[in-house]
Amino acid sequence: MTDGDRLSQLLHTLHQRYQSLREGQVADYIPELSKVDPDLFSICIVTTQGEIYSVGDHDHLFTVQSISKVFSYGLALEDHGRDYVLTRVGVEPTGEDFNSIVLDEASKRPYNPMVNAGAIATTSLIKGKTPVDRLNRLLEMFNRYIGHDVFIDVSVFLSERMTGHRNRAMAHLMRNFGMIDDPIEESLDLYFQQCSVLVNCQDLAIMAATLANRGINPITQERAIDRRYVRDLLSVMYTCGMYNFAGEWAYTVGFPAKSGVSGGIIGVVPNQMGIGIFSPPLDVRGNSVRGVQVCEALSQDLNLHVFDCQGC
Ligand code: GLU
Repeated sequence: MTDGDRLSQLLHTLHQRYQSLREGQVADYIPELSKVDPDLFSICIVTTQGEIYSVGDHDHLFTVQSISKVFSYGLALEDHGRDYVLTRVGVEPTGEDFNSIVLDEASKRPYNPMVNAGAIATTSLIKGKTPVDRLNRLLEMFNRYIGHDVFIDVSVFLSERMTGHRNRAMAHLMRNFGMIDDPIEESLDLYFQQCSVLVNCQDLAIMAATLANRGINPITQERAIDRRYVRDLLSVMYTCGMYNFAGEWAYTVGFPAKSGVSGGIIGVVPNQMGIGIFSPPLDVRGNSVRGVQVCEALSQDLNLHVFDCQGC
């Protein structure tokens, strides 16, 4: 049996083991997300050599939601550099809910780019002459990571925009402190649009594998992000990527990850692989229930904890 056969078998075993897990609730803050079938479930791994392993509903499309925050942070860093971006958004975990309306008391910055306030501040930094230019740059960035054109789910975008009062309130607070610039409605739209980008589970694994491969998509060989910023993305994923479970995640699973409210998780094992999981029911912290279990099992079975020191 080859290593590939073993990996493929492991994915099938984990899929079968956790398919029957019936815990968690699908997100219902907008009707579009609450309509999803809770049984949809897929696990994909893409190695930095470009091998693809998939099981389950790997081509089912869903909105990327908070997972987009990682990638728009990368684009903001490319547009402005590390020093400037750090003046607008910090890199400190919050211990607060992802949508809490708190800014760092002293600096007035949002705490980090993985909570909504930080993500809105990050997205507001994406350059472009017009709203269409900015959106196109964002979509082109996703294209590079995924290797094909991406589209926006317009009904999710419109619902997010219509109901996003809390995000709007945060944007106004940050505008008050000079953390984002006018016109804020334009940046909010771009944020709601980035959350509404449609992906499937295999796309997630390819995006993660691109980060594992120092910014080069291992399938198309196209560079998606300047190599020097990959470490910034992985650092904030590691410390802040899994909502209020980030510390426990770092301790037990031990690789950088990011989850989103539609039930997606990406995991990055540097120089080895990207992991994508999709299963909509969420736990109380907002992470996919099956996704967390699968990552714990993968980390253990494949020794993926980045600080594991097997044999040293
Ligand atoms: N669109 C969601 C929001 O801004 C994203 C939240 C998430 O995936 O955590 O509230």
